[in-house]
Amino acid sequence: MRLTIIGCSGSFPGPDSPASSYLLEAEGFRLLLDLGSGSLGVLQRHVGLYDIDAVCLSHLHADHCLDLCAYYVARIFHPDGPRPRIPVYAPGGAASRMAQAYGLEESPGMVEAFEFCTLTPGSQRIGPFQVATAHVNHPVETFGFRLEHAGRSIAYSADTGESAALLELAGGADLLLCKTSFLEAPGLPSDLHLTARQAAQHAARAGVGRLMLTHLVPWNDQARTLEEARGSSFTGPISLAASGYSLEPG
Ligand SMILES: [Zn+2]
Ligand SMILES: [Zn+2]
Repeated sequence: MRLTIIGCSGSFPGPDSPASSYLLEAEGFRLLLDLGSGSLGVLQRHVGLYDIDAVCLSHLHADHCLDLCAYYVARIFHPDGPRPRIPVYAPGGAASRMAQAYGLEESPGMVEAFEFCTLTPGSQRIGPFQVATAHVNHPVETFGFRLEHAGRSIAYSADTGESAALLELAGGADLLLCKTSFLEAPGLPSDLHLTARQAAQHAARAGVGRLMLTHLVPWNDQARTLEEARGSSFTGPISLAASGYSLEPG
């Protein structure tokens, strides 16, 4: 299984990266995890526009889903005709929210391009991946993920504050791709975002092999983000995500 960081900028696109989007590939199957603002452009540096087999949206904040509107245009209005429908796994209400975002009638909305499948907590097969999902701790319905293939595993926090569900999803994973938005400061809001130190604490408690910090907000000092994570109890490798970076976990 190969992971390529398409976008890792937190909350809005930055000068060096679109907002959240991650490409997972195995056995020729290509799954996009989130499709945040700006990500459809950079995606095309790594894979053909029509080579995506499925999309998963962790939640319906714009920095994780809005480029599905752009992808709808690309799939429907190609000069050679519409491309075949692909599944979009997303929280309930995604079909109407995305239709509204693009200014479409709720029905038929985007159904010509996408088959919307409502995510629920549990485990399912998507292509060659075994995908576990659970609710994490964010103001709107948000799913964290664990993807497994051929004995390797990647956990993705999506957007969350401190979360027992994330610990469970990430248990023993080869890689935890974990969001961090805040630098340590007094009076941070809870149940919204993790600091880098909290992300690293989750990595330590879940016993993951490696931690990659993502959802990096452009106004933060990323050297300090890394420093705060490295000051925690997690002893494995810690790195910052970067658009274009690609790895095979384990
Ligand atoms: Zn976000
Ligand atoms: Zn969010």
